[in-house]
Amino acid sequence: MTEHTFSILKPDATRRNLTGAVNAVIEAAGLRIVAQKRIHMTTAQAGKFYEVHSERPFFGELVEFMTSGPVVVQVLEGENAVARYREVMGATNPANADEGTIRKLFAESVGENTVHGSDSQDNAALEIAQFFSGLEIVG
Ligand code: ATP
Ligand code: MG
Repeated sequence: MTEHTFSILKPDATRRNLTGAVNAVIEAAGLRIVAQKRIHMTTAQAGKFYEVHSERPFFGELVEFMTSGPVVVQVLEGENAVARYREVMGATNPANADEGTIRKLFAESVGENTVHGSDSQDNAALEIAQFFSGLEIVG
């Protein structure tokens, strides 16, 4: 089934000029980038985005990292895009990520792990709506 998922290229990716390199892996995996923009998240935006983690010990560090530099927010389209992108990203901790995944190739640590991808279709819809209007998604 053709789906949309929400992706973020995190500040460690933009800092190292890896936007194109990460996008090449996404596209080679058969996912289509149907919306994309570079933004600098505010603390309020990052806090809202990661609200589910607000009680976790790393929450403050996570919000600080996500606001430490520009990010690229994206909508990806493809067959089973949510699950497919989670596969392409690899495990949260790059030490556990499979060969060829974005996090294995590029991530520096469990905190600075290069990409975000939605973990369900419901969350994908909510996350896309936080950053894009329907008019900005062009499939
Ligand atoms: P994401 O939601 O960013 O796609 P994920 O679903 O693989 O990643 P989550 O458990 O949702 O992982 O964690 C969200 C983010 O919080 C991680 O991507 C990482 O940046 C950060 N994080 C998770 N665990 C830790 C940790 N133990 N220490 C520091 N940061 C962490
Ligand atoms: Mg997550």
